[in-house]
Amino acid sequence: MRLPDATRFYIGGEWVSPEGKDFGDVINPATEQVVAKVAYGNQNDVDKAVAAAKAAFPSFARTSIAERKELLSAINAKLIERNEDIAFAIHQEMGAPMALARRAQAPSGPQHFEQILKELESYSFSEKLGTTTVRHEPIGVVSMITPWNWPMNQIATKVAPAIAAGCTMVLKPSELAPLDAIILAKIIDEVGLPEGVFNLVHGDGIGVGAPLTAHKDVDMVSFTGSTRAGIAISEAAAPTIKRVSLELGGKSAAIICPSAPIEKAVASTIKDLMLNSGQSCNARTRILVHKDDYVKAAKVAAETAGGMTCSASDTADLGPIANNAQYRKVRDLIQIGIEEGATLLAGGCQSALTPENGYFIPATVFGGVTPDMTIAREEIFGPVATLMTYESIEEAIKIANNSEYGLSGAVWAGTTEEAGKIASELRTGMVHLNGAGLDSAAPFGGFKMSGNGREWGKHGLEEFLEVKSVYGANQ
Ligand code: NAD
Repeated sequence: MRLPDATRFYIGGEWVSPEGKDFGDVINPATEQVVAKVAYGNQNDVDKAVAAAKAAFPSFARTSIAERKELLSAINAKLIERNEDIAFAIHQEMGAPMALARRAQAPSGPQHFEQILKELESYSFSEKLGTTTVRHEPIGVVSMITPWNWPMNQIATKVAPAIAAGCTMVLKPSELAPLDAIILAKIIDEVGLPEGVFNLVHGDGIGVGAPLTAHKDVDMVSFTGSTRAGIAISEAAAPTIKRVSLELGGKSAAIICPSAPIEKAVASTIKDLMLNSGQSCNARTRILVHKDDYVKAAKVAAETAGGMTCSASDTADLGPIANNAQYRKVRDLIQIGIEEGATLLAGGCQSALTPENGYFIPATVFGGVTPDMTIAREEIFGPVATLMTYESIEEAIKIANNSEYGLSGAVWAGTTEEAGKIASELRTGMVHLNGAGLDSAAPFGGFKMSGNGREWGKHGLEEFLEVKSVYGANQ
C-alpha cells in the first residue's frame, strides 16, 4: 500500500511546494526504517496558509447549517471508505498494530464527524436571553496543532466542529506522524470544501507551530500535546489575545474500593491503560487499592500485564512506542522506578521480552509505589502501571488529587452510587464509574495543568464559537 506524499502542503485548495528546503524523516517505530519524508514549513508557508484561511472566512461563515452538514457527511463517508488506508498510514507512522489501527485509530475520524452531525441536528446558534438575541458565531481563523499518539482522533476532534461552526483553519499535524492528515486533506479536496477553508502545513513546533500560534490573523489556537508546549503556546498567543484551547497531559488515577470486584477492576484497568502501548493522555496509570487488597491486586495486575503480547504482529496487544525520543523517556522512567525502590511486577526494559529491532516495551507493572516517587508523579506516556495503596477512601481521594494534572480518573465500587460520591471529590475533567467507557457526546478535557478546553460533542462545537448579544432584536 502506498503512503501519502508529505512533501507538499495543501493551501488555498491546491497542493503546493514548501517555501524552504527543510525535510524530516517519518520513521516506522516497529522497524526503525524511514517510511516517508516530511517537508518542514516556515513562517512564509504559515503566512500563505493563514492568508488563505482569512480570505475564505467571510463567505464560509455565512454558509447555512444544511450546507455544512452536507460537506461533513461527504467527508465522513470518504473517511469510512478509506479506513484501511488511514489505518495503514497510522500503523506506519506511529506503530499502532494494524488491528488497533483498523478498529480504533482510523475509525475515530468518523466517530467525531458523526457526533458533530448529530449535534447540528439540535444545536441552537441563536437564543433569546432577556430581551436580547444571543448569537453563536464562528470564531474565525483557527490554528490546529496536534500530537502523534491518536493522530486522526485529535485532528477530527478539531476539524469536524470547526467546519460545523463555520470556521476556517490551518492544521499542523505532528511532524512525527503526519501521514493520516494528508489522506483527510485529500478527502476534503475531493468533496469540494471551498478553497482556503481547510489548509495543511507540515513542520515542527518551532518552524510552524510557533508562527501559527503568534500570528495576528489567527483568532484561536486549538492545541493537543504536552503541557510544556501548551505553556509555550499560551505565552506566544497572549500578545494577540486569541482564544487558546488546550488538551494536555495527564497522570490519572483509578481508585478501586474494597467493595469493588477487585480482580475484574484491576484486570480491566490494566488492559485499558495498556491500549495504544500506554500512549493515551487519559490513561489511568495510578492504580490505588486498599492495603488489604494489595496482594490480590498485585497478582492480577502482574498476570494481566504478563499475558499481553508486545510485538510487530498485526494483532499484538502492544505495538512499539511511537518514536525513539518517547522510547528513551519511558525506559529512563522505568529505570528511575527501579532505582527509587518500586517493585517490578511485570515487564521492564529486558530485550528478551520484545523483538530485537523497534522501540518495544512490554506491559510493565510496578508495585509498592509511593506518592513521592517519580513514576507516581510524572506522566510516563508508555505502558507502565503504578500500583499504590491507601488506608481509607479519604486518603485514596487525596492521593488521586495530589497531581499537577487533572485529566481523567476512575472509580470502582460495589455500587454506582458509592462510586459516584467519590467521583464528585475528584478534581478531574472526566471520571469513569465501574468500567464505563468514553462517550463521544460528552466533553473530553481536563482540570488544572491538563488543559483549559473541552473537545467532543456540543462542548467541542462551542469551543469554536464566539458569543454576540444583539440588544433590541426582540423589542
Ligand atoms: P508535543 O507537545 O511535543 O507536540 C505536540 C504538537 O505540538 C506537535 O505537532 C509539535 O510539533 C507541536 N509543538 C511542539 N512545541 C511547540 C511550540 N512551542 N509551539 C507550537 N507547537 C509546538 O507533544 P507530543 O510529544 O507530540 O504528544 C504527547 C503529549 O500530548 C503527552 O504529554 C500527552 O499527554 C499529550 N496529549 C494530550 C491529549 C489530550 O487530549 N489531553 C491527547 C493526546 C496527547
